[in-house]
Parts: sequence; C-alpha cells; structure tokens
Amino acid sequence: MAFNFCPNCGTKYLARAKPFAPQKCAQCGRTSYHNSKPCAGALIVKDQRVLLVLRAVEPFKGCWDIPGGFLEAGEHPRAGMLREVKEETGLAVRVIELLGVYMDRYALDGDDFFTLNHYYIVEPIGGTLRAADDVSAYRWFSIDALPRENEIAFEHAKIVLRDLRERQKG
Ligand SMILES: [Zn+2]
Repeated sequence: MAFNFCPNCGTKYLARAKPFAPQKCAQCGRTSYHNSKPCAGALIVKDQRVLLVLRAVEPFKGCWDIPGGFLEAGEHPRAGMLREVKEETGLAVRVIELLGVYMDRYALDGDDFFTLNHYYIVEPIGGTLRAADDVSAYRWFSIDALPRENEIAFEHAKIVLRDLRERQKG
C-alpha cells in the first residue's frame, strides 16, 4: 500500500497510478518499496486429519483457517510458525517438512498488501489444545472431508489444503 509521505524526510508524495509501485522522494531521493509481508503457518496433521481454526476476527471472520500469522522482524518462518501454533492452539509440534510457499493479498481497514506465506506440515508432540483470543473454535478435519472452499479463509489456503491432500495421498 502506497505511503502518503516519505518515511525518511516527511515530504508529501504525489499520487501514484500503481498502488504497489516503488515511490521515489523528490526531496531526499530515498525510494520506498512495498514488498510482500512474510507469514508462516502449520498444517497440523494426525491420523490423516488436519487441525483448522475458526476465525473470530476479520478478515474472513467465521471461516476455517490454517493456524499461523505474520512473522516478527528478523524471525525465521519456522520459528514464527512454532510461535503461532503455540499461541493459537496451545500445541507443541514437530516439523515433518515444508509444504511450500504461497502468495496472497491481505486487505482490511485501509491496509492492502501482498503476503508471502510459508506452510509447514507438522505433527503434535505435546501441549494441550485450547483456543486463543482470535480463534472461536477448532476442529480436526479428515483430509478427505475438508470444509467447502467458500468456508475457508484466504484464497491461497484453498490451494494449500489441496496440495496437502495430494501430498498425504501420494
Ligand atoms: Zn524524502
């Protein structure tokens, strides 16, 4: 999402035609880039089932979501995934493999940017399942009976779950 002012010197930017194009400041010469924001999530798998959480907050409130979230500054995707799993589900997990990296877009309340989403296949090794503040429920879904696509939060998650199903069967 484009800036209104230069983050370096505060000069007002002229309006841009393309919302994600780099913005060069006419005053100080600094260029601002609008990179994708990194995220990480976990496909917690056990006995051919995967754990999904019901979102209690926008965007996609009331839709099934894969546990995960935005990375903190300097955080490795694997570490961020483990932190988010602990926060959202209370579970400790062990990484089996990286499923892949998926692009998406996030738009809410004036925020609009691209996301770069890392997904790990993991298995639970401890902890006690409990819902966090931003989660209203969780459920183990059979790999063969996942929620309908219009009940799944975020476009890329539909592809992630399809890829997981193929991987688990392969
Ligand atoms: Zn400037």
